Amino acid sequence: VGAKLVIGNWKMHGGLRGNEVLLQKLANGTRAMPPGLRIGLCVPYPYLAQAQAMLGASRIEWGAQDLSAHDEGAYTGEVSAPMVADFGARYAIVGHSERREYHREGAILVAEKAERALAAGLTPIVCVGETQEEREFAFTERVLCAQLDAVLDRLTVEQAAGLVLAYEPVWAIGSGSSANCEEVQDVHAFLRHHLARKGDAVARIPILYGGSVKPENALSLFSVPEVDGGLVGGASLDATQFLEICDAAA
Ligand code: 13P
Repeated sequence: VGAKLVIGNWKMHGGLRGNEVLLQKLANGTRAMPPGLRIGLCVPYPYLAQAQAMLGASRIEWGAQDLSAHDEGAYTGEVSAPMVADFGARYAIVGHSERREYHREGAILVAEKAERALAAGLTPIVCVGETQEEREFAFTERVLCAQLDAVLDRLTVEQAAGLVLAYEPVWAIGSGSSANCEEVQDVHAFLRHHLARKGDAVARIPILYGGSVKPENALSLFSVPEVDGGLVGGASLDATQFLEICDAAA
């Protein structure tokens, strides 16, 4: 069992003034945590510069929540991986269920984004997850394979070994109650096994759990075999809660 990775996903929250307070508290509050623990924050694009300025001297890394599948060109409104990398970012979330659902992002597009992120030196955090309905119809494994294989098929083994995978059951996101430990263990073991088809190095990538991770459930979720950390939404907007979750991973 290696050191854990905890990533905060602010989603579309924040503001210059409030971020300053939050980032300061997190930079200070994480200073004494074990060096092996990795912590990251994925912020809205306009705040990447602020994250860089305020976290540069801290042990917290930062990143974006999405990327364009193109490096440059006539793509109004898009932000490329090299642009994100310009701000010292380490991570980029790709394929979050909110992008898949509200912006009709398909598996191939997500794979292209992961590839662009890697090419720019960023670590893609590839999100996969089933809906409530898909789970009820016992489609969970099929859905996860389709989402994951599109990415794995596009990448070399060396590239795929540089991914972070996040299992985020859509029905647990923002619901207030996470998947239970047994459900998480089953899916993570399945994903690990599936990754192994691409070789040992790929089988060892971190698999995070996301979906209503909170201080109250973090310790038990992080104790589940095959869970290498968490992708935290709502609770990453509160310094006390996020620090408690990082503590649980330490
Ligand atoms: P919540 O932690 O708010 O459920 O969000 C999870 C998530 O979608 C993180 O990417």
